[in-house]
Amino acid sequence: MYLVIIIAFLLLSFVLDSISDYLNIKNLKDTLPDEFVGYYDEEKYKKSQNYLRDKTKFSVISSITSLIISIIFILIGGFNYVDLFARRFGYGEIVSGLIFVVVLVLLLQIIQIPFSAYSTFVIEEKYGFNKTKIKTFISDIIKSLILILIIGIPVFALVLMFFIKYGSVAWIYASITVILFELLITFVAPVFIMPLFNKYVPLEDGELKTELEKYAKEQDFKMKGLYKMDGSKRSTKTNAFFTGFGKFRRIVLFDTLIAKHTTQELVSVLAHEMGHYKKGHIHKFMLMSFANTLIMFFLLSLFIGNEGLFAAFKMQNISVYGALIFFGFLYTPISMFLSVIQNVISRKYEYEADKYSVTTYKNPQAMVEALKKLSVDNLSNLTPHKMKVFMEYSHPPVLDRIKAIRNIKIEG
Ligand SMILES: [Zn+2]
Repeated sequence: MYLVIIIAFLLLSFVLDSISDYLNIKNLKDTLPDEFVGYYDEEKYKKSQNYLRDKTKFSVISSITSLIISIIFILIGGFNYVDLFARRFGYGEIVSGLIFVVVLVLLLQIIQIPFSAYSTFVIEEKYGFNKTKIKTFISDIIKSLILILIIGIPVFALVLMFFIKYGSVAWIYASITVILFELLITFVAPVFIMPLFNKYVPLEDGELKTELEKYAKEQDFKMKGLYKMDGSKRSTKTNAFFTGFGKFRRIVLFDTLIAKHTTQELVSVLAHEMGHYKKGHIHKFMLMSFANTLIMFFLLSLFIGNEGLFAAFKMQNISVYGALIFFGFLYTPISMFLSVIQNVISRKYEYEADKYSVTTYKNPQAMVEALKKLSVDNLSNLTPHKMKVFMEYSHPPVLDRIKAIRNIKIEG
């Protein structure tokens, strides 16, 4: 019974994704939208559409592969083999659970390597984005794996211990542990984790720094500093973001972004990011994620020791750690539903942040210009299908954002 439900969930998510991909490709139009005349020539616009086609094709192929591998792994009792291996060492439930999970994580990582290599060195390369050297690619994989293990092992061990010891109230302890770790990581990441992957240098003195600081001061926005990140180490794509909390907030601009935009455009981008803080978006998203953690662990606690679930995965032995992993499969539709909701909210927040930028910096033209350049430099899809946007877009399509910005009334 559970086997049927789980395979149905896997198929359902694959079918939904495929439909939205198909509609998205069908929605490509030959004529360039008026807004982008002068930003794209015919050839480059075609190139942006081919980029989308290539990426979509690749994502469908990788989804089919992962679907087939998952189903085969479940049907041949792959989880049971891993479990028997983990138990062979004769340790208690917590250590066996850790071995079980580490083996699964390693298997998953190994399967992902060829896909990630193809995406970076074939697709991104073909469209002139790739700057990643093989050495960086390999060291990225090793570093992320070590981080996953360093952070994941203690969290998983604690969660496991709570569920073994405290039974029906364990989900509360487990949730609190995970939430505390999430909080800790948001503080630690900018200082200890992100520098492992990129160089962050304070923005050099000059017009850009002066203007950004002037604007931040006018808005009474405290932050730890302005940083430039070597995004060009991996890709020519452009981006900017905020990290950290409270006094530790820092804004990070990709070197590729700085190279391609004017000072006014960059202040507009900073103003947009600041808008997310000023409107409380960051805190609201954190609260939502905490709520999600609570719900997930509560539901999980209902499935601990469920024999039917273990039978579906052909397990000979019942364990708490097995339930933790298998519950993940049952949770997929819920997490899919929650991610759609989160995207709906996120798109609303993006409009609000744009509005904040335009009403405080009072330079809508710079914001529009920044969005257009970002779109062209990253070959973004100008005409995504409604279903694709609804399900997967955390940001509204660029043309909708431009339209909304043009409709904002600016006082003074
Ligand atoms: Zn935003």
